[in-house]
Amino acid sequence: MEFNAFTLIFLIATFAYVITLLWLNIRQGKAVAASFDAVPGEFDANITLAEHQKAAKYTQAKLQVNHAEVVFSTIVLLIWTLGGGLNWLDGVWQAQTSSLYTGVGFIVSLMLIGSVIDLPFSLYRTFVLEQKFGFNKTDAKTFIGDLLKGLLLIVIIVVPLIYAVLYLMDVMDAYWWLYVWLMLTGFSLLMLWLYPSYIAPIFNKFKPLDDANLKAKIDNLLTRTGFKSDGVFVMDGSKRSSHGNAYFTGIGKNKRIVFFDTLLKGMKDNEVEAILAHELGHFHHKHIRKHMITSFATSLLGLALLGYLINQPWFFHGLGVERMSDYTALVLFTLTMPMFSFFIAPISNKLSRKHEFEADAFAAKHTNAQDLISSLVKLYRDNASTLTPDKLYSAFHDSHPSASIRINHLKSQTLSP
Ligand SMILES: [Zn+2]
Repeated sequence: MEFNAFTLIFLIATFAYVITLLWLNIRQGKAVAASFDAVPGEFDANITLAEHQKAAKYTQAKLQVNHAEVVFSTIVLLIWTLGGGLNWLDGVWQAQTSSLYTGVGFIVSLMLIGSVIDLPFSLYRTFVLEQKFGFNKTDAKTFIGDLLKGLLLIVIIVVPLIYAVLYLMDVMDAYWWLYVWLMLTGFSLLMLWLYPSYIAPIFNKFKPLDDANLKAKIDNLLTRTGFKSDGVFVMDGSKRSSHGNAYFTGIGKNKRIVFFDTLLKGMKDNEVEAILAHELGHFHHKHIRKHMITSFATSLLGLALLGYLINQPWFFHGLGVERMSDYTALVLFTLTMPMFSFFIAPISNKLSRKHEFEADAFAAKHTNAQDLISSLVKLYRDNASTLTPDKLYSAFHDSHPSASIRINHLKSQTLSP
């Protein structure tokens, strides 16, 4: 095996990626530690020192796990690539059969090995970290059930999809990536459409919201803002965790607003209404559509790039793979892309934060900014989210504005007419 200049570029990118992630973690840890002794002034009426300190400890504990995970997954990546792991696995499959199934087998076995390697982290997160801070509600039965359901979805959805991609790569001309893109785009639209009614219910129970007062308020808000959906649902998030959330899902007529039961607990009706108005704000400003278009455009660019790389021997050899094939190209591309695309994260997060401000403004206009503020403070408190993140860490990792920026933004809207 001969390494080349691309090996060096890959090593530099990986090194820069890891160092940046660890450095950001350290910065975040320091920012949280620096504010450990006092609740930031704007929150001290609603968040106790004990709650604030719990959030700090929780944030630090999560950072530590992440630290270990970053280092570990980088070692695993290097073993797969430069260490010859992929080359070995390819040899194993090549010895079996030589057809499209070789590629399917290669990719699926890699995914399975990856999940097994990640399992200790996943177990630790759920049963040690989340447990320690009182958030974990998952029992062994649910955890194993989730694993099996995930496996089942891989068999019935992912395997045929991989086969279809490899088939198109095989039979189409030099523009295979365009056909693959069309198929993947169609597939993700189908999944978006199927997700709320057919996939999410495999993992959780969804019930139409049944609180009569709240329902009347919500129906009123929906009519006022001209929003049509498949309904407002409550999800049994408490089955796994006491973290609360609300989200918006689906496309076309098949869209739903989902509240975690853990979010509804402890929120006043007006606060729930304000949170819903925020979600509707995303819809009103077509954020979901914009997001979809951006990700489709990005995947087209990515596939076009892969269309080029797949014919370059240096791409394979530089990453430790001897035999050039469609499936190893796919895998190498997926494994190494994050190192190169990571540095764009602040740009996409900035865009996402702009969307959050727009959705907040929509909520302030159609409900009450004060209600949204108090619901957000409760969310930060109950999820033990830090109120004092590091700016740079936030720029790379947070799709939402940090607590005080977001709330000050909302406050300024309660003052303006
Ligand atoms: Zn939002």
